[in-house]
Amino acid sequence: MTSSETEASRRRALLEALPSIDELLSEERVMALGRGVSRPVLVEACRSAVAEVRRQILSGDEVRFDVERVERQLARLGRPSLRRVLNATGVVLHTNLGRAPLSARALERLSEVAKGYCNLELELDDGERGSRFAHVVELLKRLTGAEDAIVVNNCAAATLLTLGALAAGREVVVSRGELVEIGGGFRVPDVMRESGCALVEVGTTNRTRVADYVAAITPATGLLLKVHRSNFALVGFTEEAPRSELVALGRAKGIPVFEDLGSGALEPLHGEGLPAEPTVRDVVSAGVDVVAFSADKLLGGPQAGIVVGRREVLGRLARHPLQRALRVDKLTVAALEATLEAYRDGTADVELPARAAVLARPEALRARAAALSAALAAAQVAHRVVASTARVGGGALPLAELPSCAVALERVPAVELHARLRAGAPPVVARVNDDELWLDVRCLTDDDCLVAARQVINAVRGAPC
Ligand SMILES: *Cc1c(COP(=O)(O)O)cnc(C)c1O
Repeated sequence: MTSSETEASRRRALLEALPSIDELLSEERVMALGRGVSRPVLVEACRSAVAEVRRQILSGDEVRFDVERVERQLARLGRPSLRRVLNATGVVLHTNLGRAPLSARALERLSEVAKGYCNLELELDDGERGSRFAHVVELLKRLTGAEDAIVVNNCAAATLLTLGALAAGREVVVSRGELVEIGGGFRVPDVMRESGCALVEVGTTNRTRVADYVAAITPATGLLLKVHRSNFALVGFTEEAPRSELVALGRAKGIPVFEDLGSGALEPLHGEGLPAEPTVRDVVSAGVDVVAFSADKLLGGPQAGIVVGRREVLGRLARHPLQRALRVDKLTVAALEATLEAYRDGTADVELPARAAVLARPEALRARAAALSAALAAAQVAHRVVASTARVGGGALPLAELPSCAVALERVPAVELHARLRAGAPPVVARVNDDELWLDVRCLTDDDCLVAARQVINAVRGAPC
């Protein structure tokens, strides 16, 4: 026999030795594993385990079946796909990690409302049909100074709706310095096209003056648009039209001004490393007719896009057919109302986890890093506490460098350890810095730090974590 023939026959023998699913299911050890597990899940675990070995044999590995594989598959199937992770990246509004964590009040409200029925679109006073936005409109008016508000699925939807309702079939004037791509496929020129507007670019990448807008206005102009740069900054020889001048121009010409504010801070953020960011109220009081912003960036709430502005203009948005397609569900309304209440009550900085993380004090960060370090030291895991730079993230305040603290793990291969930590329960997502794995403590709670320490200790020892 040639060597390839012996190879083939060995492979055949290995494949033939694989158990059938029925055989597996009647095996005592598998039955023991299956206690407390539904039959379909046990069957799927057996199938996946056998399929995994078959794939390995076919790719040339000399492997045999082992019931432990069923156990691993059961563990995998028992875990939800979407689950909590510990954010040790130092990026507060990490889009891949779900952006803003919700406050305790928002969570309570969510579960209360989701458990049963709710008055989503019912006026309890008179039993008439109500608006789902009514639950947050008063708070939004009060917190932004605007006349009216509407809530859709995210800020991208808010922008699409606003452009479509106010300027479909017309021209929208925007500075070349603001034609941003936010990430996840949101590009201002594309959104403009989808909403049926014609983009009119003015100025240059680095300098745009109000005179550029003036020169671009025609009878077909439907909107003057200002877009927050969000995830990049223009520095050097730059100029942009002041908001007040754009507003004056819009008024003079009878053209509404729309600002896509992106992050939308409801209150100023005062802290080390934080540049001044206009609040929604600042933009509204400057006279901008419509302002759109995200609810899960600096606002610190659930994913949603909020549009505030003049009543007449918002009415046009509310009547547009896209509004129905983009509207939020009861869970979002519940979480958003509870989040906004924190601003009303003056407790946003402590109550909303994203704001608390952005504003965390250096002493608190040092104490957290010390607790993490002590737990690692007790298990003799080589590390040092280092100064690190955290970020706001979520396409907000790209230049903000938040001084932070991290634990750098020494003498372990960073990428491999990171993979092990991500596979843990709960997974820990950290940052690889110059071939070292760094755990930034800014987005970890005190309890998270202890859990993260346990996971690191197990991962370093090669134990399941
Ligand atoms: C983030 C951002 C968006 C998109 O917001 P989502 O809520 O993620 O849809 C749109 N415009 C600007 C300027 C942004 O910063």
